[in-house]
Amino acid sequence: TLKDNTVIVVLGASGDLAKKKTYPALFGLYRNGFLPSGVHIVGYARTKMDDEEYHKRTTGYIKNPNNDPEITAKIEEFKALSSYVSGSYEDPAAFDNLNKVLESIESGYQTKERNRVFYLALPPSVFIPVAKNLKENCYIFKGGVNRMIVEKPFGKDTASCRELLTSLKQHWTEDETYRIDHYLGKEMVKNLLVLRFANVAMGAAWDKNSISNVQITFKEPFGTEGRGGYFDEFGIIRDILQNHLLQVLSILTMERPVSFAAEDIRDEKVKVLRAIPPVERNDTLLGQYVAAGGKPGYLDDDTVPQNSVCPTYAATTLWIHNPRWEGVPFILKAGKALNEAKVEIRIQFKDVTQGIFKDISRNELVIRIQPSEAVYLKLNAKTPGLYTRAMPTEMDLTYKRRFADIQIPEAYEALILDALKGDHSNFVRDDELDVAWKIFTPILHWIEGQSGPRPKPVTYPYGSRGPKELESFIGKYGYKRSVEGYAWPVTNLS
Ligand code: NAP
Ligand code: NAP
Repeated sequence: TLKDNTVIVVLGASGDLAKKKTYPALFGLYRNGFLPSGVHIVGYARTKMDDEEYHKRTTGYIKNPNNDPEITAKIEEFKALSSYVSGSYEDPAAFDNLNKVLESIESGYQTKERNRVFYLALPPSVFIPVAKNLKENCYIFKGGVNRMIVEKPFGKDTASCRELLTSLKQHWTEDETYRIDHYLGKEMVKNLLVLRFANVAMGAAWDKNSISNVQITFKEPFGTEGRGGYFDEFGIIRDILQNHLLQVLSILTMERPVSFAAEDIRDEKVKVLRAIPPVERNDTLLGQYVAAGGKPGYLDDDTVPQNSVCPTYAATTLWIHNPRWEGVPFILKAGKALNEAKVEIRIQFKDVTQGIFKDISRNELVIRIQPSEAVYLKLNAKTPGLYTRAMPTEMDLTYKRRFADIQIPEAYEALILDALKGDHSNFVRDDELDVAWKIFTPILHWIEGQSGPRPKPVTYPYGSRGPKELESFIGKYGYKRSVEGYAWPVTNLS
């Protein structure tokens, strides 16, 4: 349940995440009546700005394309419950000042209860001083709850992650901490629990006996475009695979939790992740995009260090050593500057027993996470008419068609609401992070030259599907592309 008398403090309110995600999500919740009654929002950052400038920034990304008067009115109400305080991240006196502002807001509450949610939309370099200063100056010790929402990156490898966790834990308990991986807020990722555990038909086929291989794919149609400095330090594996795609994998493969309680779900996720050994070098394909079609290559970006061998594409195959999944390859692949924007899970089933059919397509269950959410099962049916041929077709649950009137919430809306309710299910627990890093740390260290010469990624043209080596890489794990000649019927859906 939501707690009345809550103040939400957004630290780093002047930043990119705050204006593009945090504030629009807070507004979305407010507009739909999902914020607690009496809520206040306080922005905090070093930038000096007046309330007018603050409101301009924090409402600039709220969508109102047709100037709907109802939305315009709501935006004005939203501004009225939001204010800004400027101050440093290191100075305790600045946080004491923030606390005084919070107390003056809280003095208007009818009851003594006071709750504070701190959202750290900040670079990791200041996580620790901010967590410390908040605890020492802005923490409510009696008569309410305190929560802290933090964003990735949670370290760069196992050791640095442990160091960060240990430092933050000196001030904030696990129970008070909400670590965001925004993929856990996406509708289709949340849907996995229902698809898997509310359907006998799905559950029955969910193992090594039926499934040949699984791909979890992230594709982005643009390159670093001037933000190469940041990217080059992290690379595609830290940016996408180690967190977002691994989270999806854990929910896709975990055993049925005892209940939907947060710790029951997270226990199962940790259990399956622990059954995954570190990724092997020969289960890895690394790529870097080069100029094509008038678009610059990665190394042409001025913000990228010369001769960088940082991968902008990676495919890695993970194996799960438990009775359900032994021998099934899970291919996690992600890349920038590709031919399309897409995130999907593609589960390919085994060949049907040979004999009566020849060259028949395999079943595939595709869960399209974005864009245009969909679940479709590719299956064979008799070609209609006086034939006895089979043809590939599909059972299709395309959300835009099936749920035409429903608006799917933004991931950040779902997650902020969970944090306000105190539900940890869709946040990353400390031990989950630790096992996730263990899986990827050895290949990350290899890529970074800590165990010998750095591997050189293969190249792929900007706007392509990825490296040409991809086909044989996926092929060696048993993936078979559908027989040619099948196409989805043309519809007006975008
Ligand atoms: P950002 O814009 O670079 O930083 C947020 C604010 O922090 C800035 O407005 C700035 O505010 C302050 N700041 C920036 N650099 C600083 C430094 N070196 N020392 C002290 N303060 C500094 O970052 P962001 O893109 O909003 O991201 C915030 C966090 O969310 C990061 O941990 C990031 O990894 C994570 N994240 C971001 C996105 C996204 O879409 N942007 C997505 C997922 C996760 P003042 O100068 O006014 O103090
Ligand atoms: P598909 O194009 O038949 O297959 C896509 C798969 O094949 C992906 O794994 C893709 O890999 C790979 N692939 C694509 N081109 C390739 C090539 N030239 N060589 C080797 N592999 C290639 O599409 P589908 O997803 O199975 O579904 C059939 C059609 O239905 C698609 O057009 C899909 O968009 C459509 N559909 C749309 C919706 C919707 O919009 N809601 C719903 C249902 C179906 P990468 O991902 O690595 O590129």
